[in-house]
Amino acid sequence: MAILKITLGLGVVFILHSVVPTYYNKKFNKKAIRKTKNKNEIMLTFDDGPDKRYIYQLAKVLEENNVHATFFMVAQNAQKNPEIVNFLKSKGHKIGLHSWQHKNAMLYSYLYTKKDFENSTAIMKKLGVNDLFYRPPWGHTNIFSLMFVKKYNMKLVYWDVMAEDWSAKSTPDMIYEKLMQRTTSNSIICLHDAGENSGGAKGAPLNTIEALKKAIPSLKEKGYKFILPE
Ligand SMILES: [Zn+2]
Repeated sequence: MAILKITLGLGVVFILHSVVPTYYNKKFNKKAIRKTKNKNEIMLTFDDGPDKRYIYQLAKVLEENNVHATFFMVAQNAQKNPEIVNFLKSKGHKIGLHSWQHKNAMLYSYLYTKKDFENSTAIMKKLGVNDLFYRPPWGHTNIFSLMFVKKYNMKLVYWDVMAEDWSAKSTPDMIYEKLMQRTTSNSIICLHDAGENSGGAKGAPLNTIEALKKAIPSLKEKGYKFILPE
């Protein structure tokens, strides 16, 4: 009986600490960005980098297609690669934050959450990234996350299109098809540019880059314009 009570108690704590805030921020938080505002405007975003093995090839494809994207970086990765941050900024891309160490906020309490925001915002500031757009890893937040999002004057950015590009099973054609089927007016597309470093398959960004060579022109043909968050 005691075990049942403890299990139930922990379940309730987890729901209040993690599930409710994650669901609220993802679906209802009015200040979070989930879609673009104007018709036929879409955003291309990349999570988990920067990774020097892929970023220059990816940037080349974006440049050839005259498209700007948003890179939600893991602060620890950004800290190790300041030259990539500067390179992307010089090409007109936007740098966003994707947490300090890519941990799941649902599983952490106040002290780690505080450290996560403190350290990551300090790193990004030092790298000259001041207007902070924040995408939580897996879109997961806890009951304290929003307090820090407000404290550091950040804007939450979610997505409505994924293409499972991190998976070892995904081929460039599969990623392309998913992007074409799922993208609609006002979509925010979430892709990944760091492979195994943040839980994806090794080399997966090469498939993403290959898919984009076809997908960007096709999306443009459909009348979509690529924009950055404001
Ligand atoms: Zn991520």
